[in-house]
This record gives sequence, structure tokens and C-alpha cells, in this order.
Amino acid sequence: MMMTIDVRKCNAQKKYAGDLTGEFEADDALIDIPYVRFSSPVRAELHYEILEDDSVEVTGTLFFALEGACSRCLAQTEQKFEGSVDACFVPQGGESEEYRYRNGVVDLQSCLNDALILALPGRLVCEPPCVALEWNEK
Ligand SMILES: [Zn+2]
Repeated sequence: MMMTIDVRKCNAQKKYAGDLTGEFEADDALIDIPYVRFSSPVRAELHYEILEDDSVEVTGTLFFALEGACSRCLAQTEQKFEGSVDACFVPQGGESEEYRYRNGVVDLQSCLNDALILALPGRLVCEPPCVALEWNEK
């Protein structure tokens, strides 16, 4: 699903802050670990605040799970992860390195993808005891 914030509508309703939750299918191509994929949709629990200058602050947490081969012992495993979202969107035309939005609607997908990439682990390791770890310690 598309996660968006309709800033014009929120302003019209004088609803300048709120919570937003949703799920989206993440692209397995974001993962840089062999034989690992997302095992379920990513869940986003977000809070947004529309400031007086129409910039929109978005904070929250992403919950996701990866499944695939343990990077050490190759056993199939599934692990849960969390990532944090902390982004600011400004209306198009503003000068900044922040995210832009157009036509009064914030499309959260780019910031969610960025937060996801930051939260992705470098490898997937099965729950202890990972057999490979035990071997290494002996
Ligand atoms: Zn393992």
C-alpha cells in the first residue's frame, strides 16, 4: 500500500498531528545478504506533525523480518528487526536537504526505504547457538 499524508486535508481539518500505521511490501533488492529476503510486509508505526511553515516531521519505527540462510552456518532462519524513522518533508521549492513533497501530499515511501536500508543488518545469523559459532569456539 502507499503511505501518504494529505497535508492540505489535515490543515483544512486543523489536524496538525497524528499517528499513522501501515504495511508495505519491501523490495528484496534492498537486502545485500545472499539468500535472504523479507519474510513479511514491513510494518510502519509513525507519528507526524505539520508545522506552521507546512513542513512535516515524521518519526516512528519500522518492524520487519528477514528469512533465509544464516550467514555463518547456512541454516534457514528468521529474525526480527526494527528501524527508526526520523524525517522532515518540506513543500517543493524549499531550500534544504530534506525530503520534498508536491501537491500537498507527502509520499512516505522514499523515507521509509531509506530508513529500512539503514536498519538492514550486514548479515543474518541464526538464533544462538549457531552451529558455526560453536565450532569456532572449540
Ligand atoms: Zn547459524
